[in-house]
Amino acid sequence: MLPLKRFEIGDTVIEIYGGWNEVGGNCIVVKDGDKKIVFDQGIRYTVLRQFYGGRVEPLGISELRSINAVPDPSVFEGAEALYISHTHLDHLGLLSGVPSDVEIVFPEPEVLQMTVADWYKTSTSWLSYVPPQYSSKIVSAKKLEADGRGVAAVPVHHSAYPSTAYIYFGKSVTIFYSGDLRLESPTNLFQHNLGEYLEKLGLGHVDIAIVEGTNFGFEIENFPVTVQILQDIFATTLLLYDLVAVSIDPLDLELFTFIYSYSQTFGRRVVVASKRIYWILKYLRDFINMDISNMFVASELETPPPTPLDFASIIHDVLKNPREYILVVDLINLLEILRKLRLWTEEISIPKAVALLTDPEPRETPKEVEERVVTKWLKLLGFDVYRVRLSGHYHQHNFQDLINIVKPKKLIPIHTEAPQQMMAIFEKITNRSVQS
Ligand SMILES: [Zn+2]
Repeated sequence: MLPLKRFEIGDTVIEIYGGWNEVGGNCIVVKDGDKKIVFDQGIRYTVLRQFYGGRVEPLGISELRSINAVPDPSVFEGAEALYISHTHLDHLGLLSGVPSDVEIVFPEPEVLQMTVADWYKTSTSWLSYVPPQYSSKIVSAKKLEADGRGVAAVPVHHSAYPSTAYIYFGKSVTIFYSGDLRLESPTNLFQHNLGEYLEKLGLGHVDIAIVEGTNFGFEIENFPVTVQILQDIFATTLLLYDLVAVSIDPLDLELFTFIYSYSQTFGRRVVVASKRIYWILKYLRDFINMDISNMFVASELETPPPTPLDFASIIHDVLKNPREYILVVDLINLLEILRKLRLWTEEISIPKAVALLTDPEPRETPKEVEERVVTKWLKLLGFDVYRVRLSGHYHQHNFQDLINIVKPKKLIPIHTEAPQQMMAIFEKITNRSVQS
């Protein structure tokens, strides 16, 4: 398999197998002398969307490889390790395709088990994902400290938790790989300061930065909101509406904790109505020692939570006293409950209701069709529907801040549809700082 792009910087070779000129599917190979390491090996949705949809499903990993939707095994030939930045599938990819002699490095392997590995255990559809059975050894990434191969994980904010950038201390160059990251996070639970972290690693600058640019080149209607706008929208919504239902990316622990603290401020209790969010409750309780006694689980869900929690019924509690609660839902689950209720009862009375759709990232998942029909149903049931896209990625106007923190000599744009635009801005920023 030939790389989509190849860079030679002294003795170091960087090969891009996915994520070049496209959002998602990152796969970057770094060759430094006799050392070879790989960063991410995501599914390329740009390719997947062209070949599959409806009843046309992938025949398996061989076919996905043959159309370059996932990396070919030759990419891993001679590689020591694969460093995964986070569990979004356009970065994690199909772990079963990683040769067993390649070590997989991940920020917190426990979370991988609690989320993706658990969710897709029984999946039979390649389009929703396949069971991630793998034969490689998975090890925990070394945080803010170089491991035996000279790679240090740098925790970053993103819509999937945990998420990390990586620094590679090579023989002659230092490389920063951003993974996916946002510079401002909605959570007040923890703060990652990239500048401080790089300082801790003794880095005044890096030689090469491989940086994502998801939010470059967006049409105006898809423009993501800032944390400040998100706060304003939540404040207004919680005051104006009785019933508030929010759908989130189930990996977005940061956004969940934001909703939780906001609901506390407004005297509402969080009711979790999506079993994919259960892991967050468990994580907050067992890993962060947070008191979660004020969180509830919807009793209509068929699977009990892994953590002992109080139940609240959507039908008997939330619909009757909507102003006491905020629903954090998988909209499909919520719809199913409301649709059944609509059929079973003569009249379903839904209070002044709003649904805030905060997921998914457009272009990074194949879920758009689902969202369109969900919206149609919600409107039929009397909901106002708002899309509030809090991006997992830094805003275009924060690119300069990011460059000023990382201070790279050379930029390689990745995970973007607008690499030229990024390069142009990068050159402008660096030329100006040289002059001043
Ligand atoms: Zn991501």
